[in-house]
Amino acid sequence: MPQDIPPRIAQYLSNALNNHRLGHALLLLGPHSSDKELVALHIAAALICKNTKTSASVLVGCHICIDCRQLFQKNHTNLHYIMSEAEIIRRQPENVEKNTASSSEIRIDAIRALKHEQHMSNLNETPHAWIIIDGHHLTHQAANALLKTLEEPQNNHFFIILAPSLQSVLPTIASRCQRLLFPDTVAADCKTLSQQSALLFEKINQADLSERFRIIEQLAKNKETVRAQLAGLQFAIMELIQSSFESSSPLTLNRRQMTALVAVLEKAQTDLKAHGNTQLVLEHLFLQSWPQIS
Ligand SMILES: [Zn+2]
Repeated sequence: MPQDIPPRIAQYLSNALNNHRLGHALLLLGPHSSDKELVALHIAAALICKNTKTSASVLVGCHICIDCRQLFQKNHTNLHYIMSEAEIIRRQPENVEKNTASSSEIRIDAIRALKHEQHMSNLNETPHAWIIIDGHHLTHQAANALLKTLEEPQNNHFFIILAPSLQSVLPTIASRCQRLLFPDTVAADCKTLSQQSALLFEKINQADLSERFRIIEQLAKNKETVRAQLAGLQFAIMELIQSSFESSSPLTLNRRQMTALVAVLEKAQTDLKAHGNTQLVLEHLFLQSWPQIS
């Protein structure tokens, strides 16, 4: 297994690749100092290299073939990079005169270009990978355009989005992605957030009707944070579903129930955004849609 991939992430990727469960969209979360981009290239190699072995001990491409060499030199035709103008300039060699007025945002044009590349790449069957550097620099418009692409996954098209933390990414984008947290201080707060959400998840599961009313009352008090709380719950459940494939620890709800809850939570967030009657949305969610187990 490559030394430069954190062991927990390597294990997760090996399992996902072995079991054909690697999603079309991945979100790699960690600070700039982490090896997110290198891991993204390893994933692209695992997808594109024709000699890839996905046994538990070998995760990635062979590193010898022409595909692998071109991938790690970042000039493979099936590897696409999306980044801001400022980042493109930052990566130019030292001796090139740099335009300091360039934008650090990833604008809608970049996503239009991505869609064009997607259209062109449909002509060949080999996998294509798009690496999006600094996904938190997507403008709102660009993020929404990307979301449409993620919502209509195409066979053999993979998107690897890099960002410093979960909070920096639009929740709707994050909820479409399999997330990989790099072990470090920034990712630690994502972990705390998802641990808090996991606790809330268990609390709701164990609660009787009157306790659920109290939880709704608590959540509804702070309207600004309700959507974030629901997004957090959604992430925590997705994480539980993912880890349930890797361990045999008993689940409070079964996978089918949890998958249904992910969809229900997403709808609740959309409803809150659309008309904002927090109390009604929460009552519907926790009293009608959520399974009763106590
Ligand atoms: Zn190879």
